[in-house]
Amino acid sequence: MASEWNIHPRAAACAVCGTPFEPGSTGVSVLLPAEGGILLRRDLCTACFADSGRPERDARLSAWKFTIPTATPKEAKSEPVQRETAIYLLTRLLEAGRPEDTGVIYLLAILLERSRHLIERRVTREPDGRKVRLYEHRATGSFYAVTDPGLEDADIAPLQQQIIRLLDSPAPQPSEPETP
Ligand SMILES: [Zn+2]
Repeated sequence: MASEWNIHPRAAACAVCGTPFEPGSTGVSVLLPAEGGILLRRDLCTACFADSGRPERDARLSAWKFTIPTATPKEAKSEPVQRETAIYLLTRLLEAGRPEDTGVIYLLAILLERSRHLIERRVTREPDGRKVRLYEHRATGSFYAVTDPGLEDADIAPLQQQIIRLLDSPAPQPSEPETP
């Protein structure tokens, strides 16, 4: 699902002038339509985006400002474990792509949006009419394309229970060794 978007995390440098995005610096991300209905991401420094001749200035395109977080590695380490785990769980479930996880994935994304870790950038419709919400992780600039399953009120409690169970159970870490 997510691969259809072909949207990469925020680039390390301006796509036009190559100036690196240092911590605390600002810029603009633009989603450009490309062949095959995909969206390509371009990250520009503020000066390059302000250049009125640039096609990225087209008001019809999705564009938003960003600020590179200034958190030091030490501060990042002291963040609550659950915060990292919830994002990791969302990533893992999206990569697995199991249809039965659609509800859990969506509710997890909503919870992360309410806790201000994710921000909704765009809503599109699939050919079958389902909504897909595009979320950006504020800290990393990574994107998550989440299908909106149209949950009923009665669906929420069991899904919350499922999320709590998933967050409580030990999950395999992809690269970093487990610390007891
Ligand atoms: Zn630039």
